[in-house]
Amino acid sequence: MRISDDRYSRDRSRLDLALQFIRHEARTHTIKTWTGLTDDRIRKLYRTYVADSSECHVPRHRGKSPSQAAFFMRSPRMRQETALLASMLLLFDVLPAQPVSADAPRPDATVPRGSLLCKAFEAYRELSPRPNISFEHTVFLATALLRGHELRINACRDCGSVVVVDRLVLRTPTCLECQQTHATFRPPSCRTR
Ligand SMILES: [Zn+2]
Repeated sequence: MRISDDRYSRDRSRLDLALQFIRHEARTHTIKTWTGLTDDRIRKLYRTYVADSSECHVPRHRGKSPSQAAFFMRSPRMRQETALLASMLLLFDVLPAQPVSADAPRPDATVPRGSLLCKAFEAYRELSPRPNISFEHTVFLATALLRGHELRINACRDCGSVVVVDRLVLRTPTCLECQQTHATFRPPSCRTR
């Protein structure tokens, strides 16, 4: 009896997470990776969700998930949003507070971690005045920051707030706000004539 209760509760958590992912417009492949559900079960779940949902239509995304780290670095505004999202990933423990060494085991795509990922994404959407980063891009960012091959988290050299930088950047970066403060308060001798 105990075993079947445990199984039921595990299955229930996976279905709940899949529904949250569907609501956030995740791709089938992503839902499969994080919940372990089969394609067929995800399809059925999606159909039931759309049929039962009184909310507006949830678009279903097919094809490849995003994989471009450059997306997060393409403009000062995107870098600022990426920093906010990375802060939420740290705050909700999706990412470890301390950098993970190369040979240490890394947190996996598990149901509890998936649930924290949803919370971090929802907090980012609430805090950003005009959120531009999708759930799929959030999944990509969380994975990229954990691996540290392309992007890494750093602290602004002036105020210590979270910044996300290209792995190859050597200088300690500054956040957008500190950059703007420097630009406003440059001494006259530094201004271009
Ligand atoms: Zn700063």
